[in-house]
Amino acid sequence: MNSSKNYDVVLIGGGIMSATLGTLLKELDPKLSIALYERLNEVAQESSNPWNNAGTGHAALCELNYMPNPTDPSKAIQINEQFQLSRQFWSYLVEKKILGDPKTFIDSTPHMTFVQGEKDVEYLAKRFESLKDQPLFSGMEFSKDPKQIAKWTPLLIDGRDESKPIAATRIESGTDVDFGAITSQMVNHLKAAGVEVFTGNEVKSLYKTNKTWSLKHATGTATAKFVFVGAGGWALKMLQKSGIPEAKGYGTFPVSGEFLKTTNKDLITKHHAKVYSQAAVGAPPMSVPHLDTRVVNGQASLLFGPYAGLNPKFLKQGSILDLPLSVRLANIVPYLSVAVSNLGLIKYLMTEVTKSNAKKFELLKDFVPNADPKDWEFITAGQRAQVIKKDAKKGGVLQFGTEVVSSADGSIAALLGASPGASTAVYIMLEVLKRAYPERTTEWHKKLKEMIPSIGTELNTDAKKAKSSLAATAKALKLKA
Ligand SMILES: Cc1cc2nc3c(=O)[nH]c(=O)nc-3n(C[C@H](O)[C@H](O)[C@H](O)COP(=O)(O)OP(=O)(O)OC[C@H]3O[C@@H](n4cnc5c(N)ncnc54)[C@H](O)[C@@H]3O)c2cc1C
Repeated sequence: MNSSKNYDVVLIGGGIMSATLGTLLKELDPKLSIALYERLNEVAQESSNPWNNAGTGHAALCELNYMPNPTDPSKAIQINEQFQLSRQFWSYLVEKKILGDPKTFIDSTPHMTFVQGEKDVEYLAKRFESLKDQPLFSGMEFSKDPKQIAKWTPLLIDGRDESKPIAATRIESGTDVDFGAITSQMVNHLKAAGVEVFTGNEVKSLYKTNKTWSLKHATGTATAKFVFVGAGGWALKMLQKSGIPEAKGYGTFPVSGEFLKTTNKDLITKHHAKVYSQAAVGAPPMSVPHLDTRVVNGQASLLFGPYAGLNPKFLKQGSILDLPLSVRLANIVPYLSVAVSNLGLIKYLMTEVTKSNAKKFELLKDFVPNADPKDWEFITAGQRAQVIKKDAKKGGVLQFGTEVVSSADGSIAALLGASPGASTAVYIMLEVLKRAYPERTTEWHKKLKEMIPSIGTELNTDAKKAKSSLAATAKALKLKA
């Protein structure tokens, strides 16, 4: 039982976002008093858990949804720049021994894109032309030759009908990341640095009096000058409880997920890559199927999916009432507008959720023609809580990115949305810092530059700088340069 305590900062939720923000804050001002509340008995058990996400270090090296127009690489470059901030911060943390051996949380894993059919082959060729000379995408290769693709990963080619045109790109600088390990290691460091971490302790409500937030949690109360809501799918619920006007009009669209997993050693040895493809017609962009090498606790496996579905829970360990209880007068129009304008998506998700396992397995066979159901098992992934927001013209829109929602005075900030997610945690938390502590930006600039050298600048516009950043972070994180 802990009684009421006063903190400078309270972090709600023990996922990668709170862990990253807490770590940044402790490095910038070690004197800050910070508490972290997590409702589950351990941190990193929801989306940040390695088995609940795909562990792709999203740098737009292989994901087609960042480049619908193959001749416009701007969004892909932006995502890659954001991922470099994470690589730089993690490198700093390894150097300071805040994170342990990089092998415990990150591995070099080539990122590939694989497409079939003339239209997609042509698209991929154009995409490759747009990216191959971009400094952050240096080393990308393209091939239409099944023999070459088989050299990269034979599972895609063995048993394939070669009459259909295929193509692939491959880049060595891709990564597989255990975001759960990063979260746990950061939280362990925070505890050692004096942060009070309360697990099995849900924040039930919060309200503001004068300049302070008062929080009621499972075992008592606390106050804080600044609150970060890193509650994943439940961020909307906490925001609604806070009563800030900025939260009005937001809703959450939950998308459930499943992966197929194999630990068959023969298959694992034949495949060392993360291979993304095109989304099926009607599928949400984050449900693009991919076949991934995953390394968790030093053990390799292959993961395929995610298979998307409809489930009203906002967290994997949430409640089926999450969706109905989130409806308010202020967000009913956005909810209804999104439902009406996304009937195709809702139909797709409903169909997916009712598909038999045998039918779902056919999608894997499209990737791995020789796949055998006895090698694979279904596991339940995390819930993706996508953002619904007000829109002047449409009433409401469904957004697939992330969004920081904060009060006008910056005393509370929350992260809504799921993608590109954990990979860009550092970029997103820097945005939270700007909003919460605008008066300390100048004071903190030097330390931020030390931790994240390319902060506030672009790497991709300067080939030498991009190369040197990639090489430095590869060395620090024991990755292939
Ligand atoms: C299927 C799937 C695949 C994904 N693949 C990738 C990928 O390949 N690469 C990538 O970068 N990202 C990926 N993501 C996204 C990524 O996992 C998330 O963006 C990231 O983990 C979110 O971290 P978080 O800290 O915001 O939330 P979470 O990790 O969900 O943590 C939120 C925490 O808050 C706790 N909590 C909630 N409410 C309360 C409360 N009231 N009081 C106390 N505690 C509370 C929860 O229990 C939870 O532990 C994927 C996500 C999913 C679901």
